[in-house]
Amino acid sequence: MRYLVFSDIHSNAEAFERFLAQKKARNVDKILFLGDLVGYGPDPDAVITLFRELPHLKAVRGNHDKVIADLESSALFNPAAAFSAEWSKLKISPANLQYLKKLAKGPQVIDRFVTICHGSTFDEDYYVFSQFEATESFRFMNTSIGFFGHTHFPIIYYLRNDKLDVVPLTENARIKLDRNTRYLINPGSIGQPRDKNPTSSYIIFDSGKMEISFNRFGYEVARTQKKIRDAGLPELLASRLEAGV
Ligand code: ZN
Repeated sequence: MRYLVFSDIHSNAEAFERFLAQKKARNVDKILFLGDLVGYGPDPDAVITLFRELPHLKAVRGNHDKVIADLESSALFNPAAAFSAEWSKLKISPANLQYLKKLAKGPQVIDRFVTICHGSTFDEDYYVFSQFEATESFRFMNTSIGFFGHTHFPIIYYLRNDKLDVVPLTENARIKLDRNTRYLINPGSIGQPRDKNPTSSYIIFDSGKMEISFNRFGYEVARTQKKIRDAGLPELLASRLEAGV
C-alpha cells in the first residue's frame, strides 16, 4: 500500500496545484492530510475546492481550519494569523465553509499501521518541536507509525528499545523503516515551508517495502506573494515564503 502524506497547504493554490501535478504523488492507495488547508495564504476557497476532489482521502483539521470554520476564536493567534483568518472567512463559499467545519478532529487511526494528527497524538494544537514533546506523543499512539504536521518542519522521530532518536529529512531521502521501531513523521509543509528551504515537501510511505521517501518541489512563489500583497494581507506572509521561514 502506498500512502501520500502531506500537510499545511495554507491557502497556497500555486503550491497545491504543483503538488497535485507531481508524478510521484499519483498511483497511491491512500491520501493522508494532516491539517491546515487554509489560513495565511490568498486562495482559501480555491484550495478547498481542489482538495474536495481528492480520492481515497483521510484528513484531520488544523488549528487554522478550526478558527476559520468559526469553531474557535482567533484570540490566541498572532496578529498576522488572526488578520488572515478573519479575511479568509469572507472569501470562502458557504458550501466550502461547511466542508471545513466538518473536517475530523485528530488523532485519527487510519489502519493497523498508521495514525494521523495535526499537532500531537494527545492534543491537536500541541507542537512537537523537541524530543521531549515527541516522547509525550508516542505515549498516546497505538500504531507503529504516526504522521503529524503543525510545525511545518520535516523530521522523523523514532523510538527503539525505549530510546528516542531523530532522523533529519533531506531532499530525496529514502528511509527504510524497521518493524520493531515506532515512528513519528512530519512531511513538512506544502504551502508555507519553515525549514529555511522555500520548496514544498511531502512524503510517500510504502507499507510493502516499509520505506519512506521524502520529496520536494518548487512552485511560483512570486505569484503567490503578489496575490498576498494585492489582497492587502500582512507583508510578513508574503516575504516569509521566499525565505522558507
Ligand atoms: Zn500550519
